[in-house]
Amino acid sequence: MAVNFGKIVVGIYVEIKRSDGRIHQAMVTSLNEDNESVTVEWIENGDTKGKEIDLECIFSLNPDVGTEEEISLSPVTPPPPTPSSMKVNKIPKNRRTIAPGRSEIPSRDNRVGSTRGRPAQQQQPESAPPPPVQQPSQPTQSQTQSQLTQQQQNAARRKSNCVKEVEKLQEKRERRRIQQQELREKRAQEIDTTIPNYEILQMIRDFRASLDYRPLTTTDLIEEHRICVCVRKRPLNKKELTVKDLDVITIPSKDVVMVHEPKQKVDLTRYLENQTFRFDYAFDDSTTNEMVYRFTARPLVETIFDRGMATCFAYGQTGSGKTHTMGGDFSGKNQDCSKGIYALAARDVFLMLKKPNYKKLDLQVYATFFEIYSGKVFDLLNRKAKLRVLEDGKQQVQVVGLQECEVRCTEDVLKLIEIGNSCRTSGQTSANAHSSRSHAVFQIILRRKGKMHGKFSLIDLAGNERGADTSSADRQTRLEGAEINKSLLALKECIRALGRNKPHTPFRASKLTQVLRDSFIGENSRTCMIATISPGMASCENTLNTLRYANRVKELTVDPNAVTEGVRPNVNPINQLDIMDEEWDLGNSPQRDDLKLLCEQNEEEVSPQLFTFHEAVSQLVEMEEQVLEDHRAVFQESIRWLEDEKVLLEMTEEVDYDVDSYSSQLEQILDQKIEILIELRDKVRSFRSALQEEEQASKQINPKRPRAL
Ligand code: ADP
Ligand code: MG
Repeated sequence: MAVNFGKIVVGIYVEIKRSDGRIHQAMVTSLNEDNESVTVEWIENGDTKGKEIDLECIFSLNPDVGTEEEISLSPVTPPPPTPSSMKVNKIPKNRRTIAPGRSEIPSRDNRVGSTRGRPAQQQQPESAPPPPVQQPSQPTQSQTQSQLTQQQQNAARRKSNCVKEVEKLQEKRERRRIQQQELREKRAQEIDTTIPNYEILQMIRDFRASLDYRPLTTTDLIEEHRICVCVRKRPLNKKELTVKDLDVITIPSKDVVMVHEPKQKVDLTRYLENQTFRFDYAFDDSTTNEMVYRFTARPLVETIFDRGMATCFAYGQTGSGKTHTMGGDFSGKNQDCSKGIYALAARDVFLMLKKPNYKKLDLQVYATFFEIYSGKVFDLLNRKAKLRVLEDGKQQVQVVGLQECEVRCTEDVLKLIEIGNSCRTSGQTSANAHSSRSHAVFQIILRRKGKMHGKFSLIDLAGNERGADTSSADRQTRLEGAEINKSLLALKECIRALGRNKPHTPFRASKLTQVLRDSFIGENSRTCMIATISPGMASCENTLNTLRYANRVKELTVDPNAVTEGVRPNVNPINQLDIMDEEWDLGNSPQRDDLKLLCEQNEEEVSPQLFTFHEAVSQLVEMEEQVLEDHRAVFQESIRWLEDEKVLLEMTEEVDYDVDSYSSQLEQILDQKIEILIELRDKVRSFRSALQEEEQASKQINPKRPRAL
């Protein structure tokens, strides 16, 4: 039986009630026979939103479109004010609800042939004039009884006219719908249907056509931020183009990123879920490194001349453009590191040195370049020597033996970057295979008479997707993943704490944050994060994770009123750690406290099982260091024993050697050996059981967690 939609037709405006109780108007975009509902759309904060609503609800809120009633003589509902355009930059800034803004564009939305920059409603072919009911004139005192009767008769006549009119409109609309469908199919053929998701591509194109593009330009103001978080989209690469992957990212303005995530309804209709994020800056795929640098790291160069600390991070999934941004263009044969942020920052440091204000300070410039891999530090300017990180009583962190090379010009810096880069990737099958698992830190240090004046750390972070490797079957991969997961979480907390001047930050929870500690404290510390994203549909999930993380980094600093909102109370008194304490007798350590704090701050991402695993890994790493240290000591001692024993044996060559002395000395040596070797063996045994504990803990990790950070 056909559903009776009363006077509802596509294109009219009706009142709808939202789940939060708000009532507002929305346009009917389709009538759904199958579930007796209508689809409506409206614009909110610059986004088109849609919803399916039961007929009954519509009728109860809009009696004038009902089935039984006479056509209402009440005034026609005026359409809501049409926004001047789909301007995304109307998303309120400084709000915690900053992201992600969602909107759904159903695939049956007939937005074909839309005109660039015009609002969604205007593009609807069904955007018919309001139902042809006329504005009634209010009866006045002077109107006679007969006039009223006449009016009623007229109304009855109008009614039948109206019904006819509505039917005609419906027919027209149906015809147009079929035409649109044909047009759509024709266009689909035009747009190369061999593209696996051409339907989605068409939806994205239609969506883009409705946007008002205002990309960043060199004339845009460079704002002063203590924490600056921005996003950079790279172009589709050869591989993605070969498999005809779709570009699902749109950057319509200088600070907005939109992700068009393809989704499917239960009835298999495909639609786009458009998520909108706002950052300090958004760089589209045509942006050069120079331009990215101009808005991100360049403003921080001055900080280090003013006795401050600056950090700049590239964060994102492997292959999204971190190294391209920080290190330079390494595609093709010509390796050009002069266009990376490392080199551009160095160039400006030398320019600043010449300024009269700074010239008189007589500053020297040094550079360091090292790598943090699986919680260990390797010097890239000293043939990858493994370095120890120590913290003194004053909480000063030192990387012992790190080479600081003096540099006098940009060319010196370029040479160092080349040396470091080749050292970083030597023996690797691919540059990305290794760099995806390690953080590279390049530092420019200013010293005055040997004393630190300022420091700029530029970090090419490990691929964030590796954080999910914690449940891998391979231990090495697991340990790397754990360290990456932990360090990226810790980094986020350290930056957030910097924005809020929070006294305690979990910087000891990872080597990365421990090493960079001095950059996160102090009045004059500034930081910048460049979240790099891949444009492809295949990377959509990782891209969304990157954007969510970047959003969390800045979120709390956007709104000063929200300062206390993000602080989670320290509930959960009985936790995994306490249980583990009994089992492992860990005792207290600053690392452990920070790890605990970090996990509490990230309850959503860190399940109790993952937390236990992190604990096990930390324990393992500490024990490994101890075992190695002890083994080295025993090895050295063994050489001395050998020498002593040699002397002893030589002594026995003599005809009248002292047997007493010989035997007592030998016994002494053997006792010593046995004692020391037993101690080492016990350590190795407990290390081995810690390895097993780690393996057990890794199996307990909820497979859904962690997400790639
Ligand atoms: P990551 O360091 O994040 O793993 P890369 O910087 O190595 O990623 O980039 C992966 C590939 O994409 C490289 O071949 C690089 O040259 C290319 N690429 C990255 N960003 C851009 C860009 N903005 N423009 C052109 N090519 C880029
Ligand atoms: Mg890289």
